[in-house]
Amino acid sequence: MCGFISIFGPGESDAIHDVLSGLLAIQHRGQDAAGIVTFKDRFQAKKGLGLVREVFQDKHLQRLRGALAVGHVRYPTVGLGEDTDVQPFWLDYPVGTAMAHNGNVTNFHELKRDYFGQRNIHLGSNCDLEVVLYVFADALMRRGADPVTVDDVAAATKEVFTRVKGAYSVVGITSEGMYAFRDPFGIKPIVFGRKVTPEGTWYAVASESVVLDVSGYEKVRDLAAGEMLWIGKDRVPQFRQVGEKPHRPCIFEYIYFARPDTFLDDTSVYEARMELGRRLGKAFAETGHKADVVIPVPESAKTAGQTMAEVLGLPCREGFVKNRYVGRTFIMPNDKARRDSIRAKLNPIRAEFEGKDVIILDDSIVRGNTSRQIVKIARQMGARKVYLASYSPPLLFPCVYGIDMSTKREFVARDRTNQEIAKELGADYVVYQTIDEMVDAVRTAGNGKLEFCKACFEGVYPTGDITESMISDIEQDRMAAGKY
Ligand code: AMP
Repeated sequence: MCGFISIFGPGESDAIHDVLSGLLAIQHRGQDAAGIVTFKDRFQAKKGLGLVREVFQDKHLQRLRGALAVGHVRYPTVGLGEDTDVQPFWLDYPVGTAMAHNGNVTNFHELKRDYFGQRNIHLGSNCDLEVVLYVFADALMRRGADPVTVDDVAAATKEVFTRVKGAYSVVGITSEGMYAFRDPFGIKPIVFGRKVTPEGTWYAVASESVVLDVSGYEKVRDLAAGEMLWIGKDRVPQFRQVGEKPHRPCIFEYIYFARPDTFLDDTSVYEARMELGRRLGKAFAETGHKADVVIPVPESAKTAGQTMAEVLGLPCREGFVKNRYVGRTFIMPNDKARRDSIRAKLNPIRAEFEGKDVIILDDSIVRGNTSRQIVKIARQMGARKVYLASYSPPLLFPCVYGIDMSTKREFVARDRTNQEIAKELGADYVVYQTIDEMVDAVRTAGNGKLEFCKACFEGVYPTGDITESMISDIEQDRMAAGKY
């Protein structure tokens, strides 16, 4: 999962400041690398490994001029985490364009071998965005797109949809305008906004609405599944529906990935998590178990912890203090590093555990590393009973669309009953949300009609083209990257 933002400012403005605040607002979507490309007379870039504030210094801001800009924060799923894989990517020739994406191309290896192999094009990186960029630019070139028009962008987007499989929302700029498109099934989020100032109108496209909030843009709307946007020299936003597939946004965005203050597809992430907490509270009450306190694992479970506790008539307490400077444990290079860093990251407050029956609530349980450690810590702190609660259902299937989850064999819930999971994690009892309750909870926070991609919970991949060999290609890439 990654985050992106693209800006088209008025006249002689510089987009860099809005791009930077936007990237800081979506730093949670990837802490591995960051990059910005702007256009003024030519493409200017600064990319690097690390956090946004580590990669960009004042001198870069002086250099990255221009009203058109695209930025990215990376959380690597495919690729070895090299600096050659840092986005955005750009081509000066034959049609100048810079691009960033969020998602995962599922036929990356096939395209590399066939489409690019036959044309004798050697990709310069292991980043799957490169195939999107080449297919797009190749289509523009064949149309002789100079200057680029909305029809050219629509045709190039169609070409991408035909050749490139998977889930990928894309933003990009040319020398004259800004474009964006959402993958045919709308699995990845993408939102469009605008800000009117005395200098003129600014346009922004980003992964989360919070990017728009921090720089004073009003949200216009989410792009629909398979929809494309082009804003050219005349600065009039033009939309085209290029794909015709059903919309299946990723439900895990609401569970874990997005910030609570974001709206995705007109659904408040915060409201969704509140409702997920309420429903899990009811499910726990029905088990007949009794607890003294709800302790959410910071940060993502904090919202749901409050409502779960409310439903149960219990206090919701900060049993763990998070050191936010350790970095996301999940994004650590391998399992051992992840385990060690969990302890460094979550420090307990003894008074909240001692002599109590505690419910520890997390958003999800993947490999069980976090849960196993925190159950252990809770017992060391003198908890009497430790109930583990997950406000999402058991994760059982790998995500092929860009969420770095796990290989199949590493899901702790795989081939285990809830009782066995509890035993494996050292807990007295484990309670999960059901798939139906999860879907219903997220729907109640939005328009009530959304159908989601929930492949990681039930193994049904909405693109309908996922083969065992694609899954094993992705698993092998991750293993090669030292992730498992
Ligand atoms: P695990 O320790 O492997 O069971 O992972 C579960 C923890 O990782 C939970 O605390 C989640 O908040 C977090 N998490 C779940 N999915 C992801 C993901 N795809 N990327 C990063 N963190 C995640």
